[in-house]
Amino acid sequence: MPADYYDILGVARVASADEIKKAFRKKAHELHPDKGGGDEKKFKEVNEAYQVLKDEKKRAAYDQFGHAGAQGFSSGAGVDWGDFARQAGFGGGTSGFSGGVEFDIGDLFGDLFGGGRARRSTPQRGSRRGGDLELQLRLTFREAVFGVQKHLRVKRSAVCAHCHGNGAEPGTKIETCPTCKGSGVVTSMQRTMFGSFQTQAVCTPCGGEGKIAKEKCTTCHGDGRVLETEEVTVTIPAGVVSGQTIRMGGQGNAGTQGGRSGDLFITVAVESDPRFIRDGDTLYTTTNISFAQAALGDKIEVETVDGKVKLKIPEGTQTGKKFKLAGKGVPRLQRSGRGDHIVEVVVQTPTNLTRKQKKLLKELTEP
Ligand SMILES: [Zn+2]
Ligand SMILES: [Zn+2]
Repeated sequence: MPADYYDILGVARVASADEIKKAFRKKAHELHPDKGGGDEKKFKEVNEAYQVLKDEKKRAAYDQFGHAGAQGFSSGAGVDWGDFARQAGFGGGTSGFSGGVEFDIGDLFGDLFGGGRARRSTPQRGSRRGGDLELQLRLTFREAVFGVQKHLRVKRSAVCAHCHGNGAEPGTKIETCPTCKGSGVVTSMQRTMFGSFQTQAVCTPCGGEGKIAKEKCTTCHGDGRVLETEEVTVTIPAGVVSGQTIRMGGQGNAGTQGGRSGDLFITVAVESDPRFIRDGDTLYTTTNISFAQAALGDKIEVETVDGKVKLKIPEGTQTGKKFKLAGKGVPRLQRSGRGDHIVEVVVQTPTNLTRKQKKLLKELTEP
């Protein structure tokens, strides 16, 4: 079992980003392998711990799931938020998702999704970021191709309006926690066969907030947050595919004591359409033409996502021939332009011919 990242840096679990940064600098300086008394192994551990704890998302995952949570991130491309959130007990139960590609729409739309992405200045002691939420959203084939705006009802914790989040009944006193004297952490000595260690833990009576309400808020019972169902509008961009996740910064659960809200992750599941096969930006269809149309050429109508369009079949077209309808495919996600639509023609071989038709066909095959 690897050592606890907080212990490695020697900081409390409620340490601020600034405290973590300072602790890392100090440790890294002491342990640098180029220095006398340096320790390469420990230096690496300190660095690993810092890489996780300096990142709010990784830190939240580590707090919740330990090393396994943090590792999900270090694997690089794509965190499977689906599994991540289900593990945490969020989300509905639609199955059949191919787990997925994390797709950060925040970068695409910037501040369109509201102030959630804006960072607050150093959080107050005891403040904690709210948890992330995950929703699964079913889209029709067309909605995924052209994009859509959806209104979702999201059940999430919000700051209690009665006490404004401090958990105390308005007009009553908030006292410094007598257990931790306001620090939010309790320090204890642990004696083991290897010596004595100082350990720090979040103070239980005040939940790390350092303060205790004398009379708890009657609405939220002291939590500072209440469950609410709110409508959230999400803009699904054109060109999404099943399994992609859209992040809406700050639309998750409210934080405590002024902590940032968590994020809302929306994973899409796209229904298929029997008329089209989609491969990325390209659409494929097949269309039947008669033997005569193939031989003599014709103008036919084919179904595209934009409706029916005319397609010229040249004389002497063979079965299996593919025609490209440029720009009639799926709009390119996060880019301009559209993919193509490929139409494959299948020549229908005539059956139940009359004697006269057979005679004419025989003439065709004679030299
Ligand atoms: Zn309240
Ligand atoms: Zn306390």
